[in-house]
Amino acid sequence: MKNFKQVKTFENKLEKIFCNMCGHEIPKNKFGYFDDYLSIDKIWSYDSKFDGLNHSFDICQDCIEKLICEMKIKP
Ligand SMILES: [Zn+2]
Repeated sequence: MKNFKQVKTFENKLEKIFCNMCGHEIPKNKFGYFDDYLSIDKIWSYDSKFDGLNHSFDICQDCIEKLICEMKIKP
């Protein structure tokens, strides 16, 4: 037989996302989901220029559009 004890647990709920480039908040649609955005999480290798750093950032659609325009080779 098992006796269970009720315990409170906490979870992290994503409330807001901000674009790292323009600083604007990523809006939510009418269903409560965030508009699409680019999220990058990169851990650099130790022999790289960034030597083990973790870069994590989010970019909105408008900024991605501008970024793509600046690329010499378009994706
Ligand atoms: Zn942006």
